[in-house]
Parts: sequence; structure tokens; C-alpha cells
Amino acid sequence: MSHLETALERRRKYLAGEFTLRDTVDRYLETIEKNRHLNAFVRVNAEGARAHAAEIDARRAAGKPLGPLAGVVVALKDNICQKGQIVSCASKILANFESPYDATVVEKIQAADGVVIGQTNMDEFAMGSSTENSAFGPALNPVNPEYVSGGSSGGSAVAVAAGMADISLGSDTGGSIRQPASFCGVVGLKPTYGRVSRYGLVAFASSLDQIGPFGRSVADTALMLSVISGEDPGDSTCVPAAVPDYVAGLDSDVAKLRIGLPEECFGEGLDPEVKDAINAVLDKLRADGHETVPVHLRMTDYAIATYYIIATAEASSNLARYDGVRYGVRSPRADALEDMYLHTRSEGFGAEVKRRIMLGTYVLSAGYYDAYYKKAQQVRRLIRREYDKAFESVDILLTPTTPTPAFRLGEKADDPLQMYLSDIYTVTVNLAGTCALSMPCGTSSSGMPIGLQLIGQPFKESELLAMAHKVEGML
Ligand code: GLN
Repeated sequence: MSHLETALERRRKYLAGEFTLRDTVDRYLETIEKNRHLNAFVRVNAEGARAHAAEIDARRAAGKPLGPLAGVVVALKDNICQKGQIVSCASKILANFESPYDATVVEKIQAADGVVIGQTNMDEFAMGSSTENSAFGPALNPVNPEYVSGGSSGGSAVAVAAGMADISLGSDTGGSIRQPASFCGVVGLKPTYGRVSRYGLVAFASSLDQIGPFGRSVADTALMLSVISGEDPGDSTCVPAAVPDYVAGLDSDVAKLRIGLPEECFGEGLDPEVKDAINAVLDKLRADGHETVPVHLRMTDYAIATYYIIATAEASSNLARYDGVRYGVRSPRADALEDMYLHTRSEGFGAEVKRRIMLGTYVLSAGYYDAYYKKAQQVRRLIRREYDKAFESVDILLTPTTPTPAFRLGEKADDPLQMYLSDIYTVTVNLAGTCALSMPCGTSSSGMPIGLQLIGQPFKESELLAMAHKVEGML
């Protein structure tokens, strides 16, 4: 996919007057149309994108100042609110929900002259690892459509990999940006919890969710991160830390680093081809003078259990608001209030969402709260401590993003536990609240992309991106 231009290249050419944004939008609309079978988009806003592009073209022609995303076409995951657009989280229950406001990230993108082209496919309410839980059907892997695109932000990964947008946004609660990025061969960045405002992101698990970018290069994700980061009165968990220029920071010299390799991420369950691809990168890093040291993240064994207790608990609470009254679709099959709730939620939610609401309600119930939810919160604290401890002796951590490359459609659809295990290397990062990215580092014998995960220290996205940029240059 690397033959496609990056957003930064396109921006440079746009500023040099090499093309109009209006034509670009038409070209991308054609690409989306040609790739309908990949099912990357659930909605395309052709008119809105054309009008916005023409307006930016006019400003360029008049010699007026342009924002950092001028020339760049952006796609949004279908759980990020854009005013006047349907935002459905790929769920039947929100099929008719038109957002009355813009998410903070959307406001920032538009203020930076980014043109939003549409909403991308995803697992319903961001619950899943393959987009097979979407009410619109799965988004397919552009490298080979018999394989899944990953999830839950599968459509956003496909859109960037197949050239339907320059940069896209996803959300990552347990790996939903990094895992599809890895499966589709693009870069995906999960910022530190609190780096990017969640105002206008439909909540799945509020203490884990974070919005982040997909790009065809590390620099493109840096560009987008600079635009969307920063304090927001609309989200009190968004921290007031200053936002560095992440693109300028890419070329800062990466000193010789100590790179930690968590042994728990290189053992049982890791596909040998993925291991080989990662080892090849490690050899290059060592040849370049970086030091690799084994570290332990012993709590990794408990990661999936802890994540699925906390995430489902928060989801059961967050999704209580879809009651047929305040948002979205109401079942017509009801003449009494209780029946209305029952039918609306039974008809509106898919199987995975229902499973999680039930699990979450169970772990929060009076009799089981201490045994499950409270225990999971304690383990979460230990996971965070383990990361803090690891970062006392290393600068950055490196792991595979996923144990295997993309799997075939249907392969894990009937086995939720197998599906959950594909997040084993990504979920602890959300539990610890730090930043990480996935970048392509090779291909399997069947031609599917392999991803490498770099995990940075909280709020040190600059260092993380600079290192990733360096690795990108070595491949
Ligand atoms: N695959 C994980 C899940 O199903 C992560 C999802 C996400 O990050 N949104 O919950």
C-alpha cells in the first residue's frame, strides 16, 4: 500500500498548487465507489465534502492562510459525532440518530481545514476485533478480502490502506486502532488517556476509550495528533498538558535507546512468522546501536480477564441510555413502557453488545461486585505499576501488535473467547492508560501484513513517534 502518497506529501503538493481539493474529493469518492465490496464506509457525505473542499480551494486561490490539514481528506469512525450527520456506531439502535453537535476532534479537524468525507464501518459500539459485529456487515481486508480488516475500527484502517482517505480517526478501548492497523498494513496510534478529548465520542468504556489516528506513515499520524490533542472544557479527563508539534519532533535525534521486550509477549501463542518479522526489526535496531533488554509484564496473563470485566461493566452502564426514549430507534411493537424498553433493546442491539451488557451487569451486581469488578480494578492498578516499573529501566517497550496476522472471515466469529485473545498484547496499554502505536513491519507467507507495537511512556507521544519514524526508515 506504500505506493499511495502520504497526507504530508499531498499537503505539500496542495500548497504548491498542484491540484484542487475539489478534484481530490471526487477522486476519493470514485475510489470509495470502486471499493464498495470492502464495505469500509457506512455513510459518505459527498455533497458536504465537495462544498468544504471548494471553499478551501477558494481560500487558497485568494492567498488566504490555510490550516495544517489543508489538502487532506479525513474519514471518521461511525462513533464520532459530526453535526447534522447520522452517527450510528454501526448499530440498528442508532440507525436514525442525527448528531446535533460536533465532537471536539471534528471541530479541530475542520478548523485545521481537513475535509471529512464520511463515516467508517466498525464493530457495533466498538465491541469486537474484526468488524464482523457491524450491523452493516464486515469491512473486508484490502490486501485480501477473504480476511478480516480487524476491529473495531476496521473501516477506518481500510479507508487509509486502500486510499479512500488520507487519514482516518478510530477509537481504541482495548486495541481497536492498533489491531486493525496491524491487519491492514497501516500505522495506528492510540494516544495516552487524556491526551485527546473524548467529547462527542460515543462512550463504550469511558476509562479506557481514546480517539486516535490511522495514517499511511508515522508522520501522518503525528500530523493528526497535533491537530486533535489538547485540553477541552467538554471533557474533564482531558489533561491541560501543552501540545507539542509532533511532526517537528519526528526528526529530533533518537538517542540510543533501551528497548524493553516483555517476555510474556513473545511466548506461547505467537505465530512464528510474526516472531520472525519482529526479530528482524530487533536485529536492525541493535545494529543501529540501540539496546534491547528483556523485561517482565507478569500481569499479562490477567489482562484479558481484567479488561473484559472493566470494559463490560462500563459498557453496561454507558449503554443504559439507549432506551427508546432519549436516543435513536424505538420499537413499534410496544404499548406499555416495560415492553417498549424490552423490544427496543432486544431488536436494536446485536448479539455481542447484549452479551457484554449482561456480563457487565453481572460483574457490577451487589453479590459479585467485590469478586469481579473490585478485583479487576485492583489488578488494573498492578498492571499500571508494572508499566511504571518497566519504564524505570527502559525508554520504550516493543511487542508484536497481535499474536497472528489477520484471520479469515468467520474464523473466530462463533468463538468470542478466541476473538478476545487477539487483543492480548494491546489491552494492557489501555488499562495502564499509556500511549502505543502499531506500524507495519513485514508480511506473512500468505501475504498478510504484520504489525509491530511500540509502547511509550504516558504523554511521551513525541518520543514514541520519533522512534517509530526511525524504525520506519529502517524497513
Ligand atoms: N477488541 C476489543 C473489544 O472487543 C477492543 C475494542 C476496542 O478497542 N474498542 O472490546
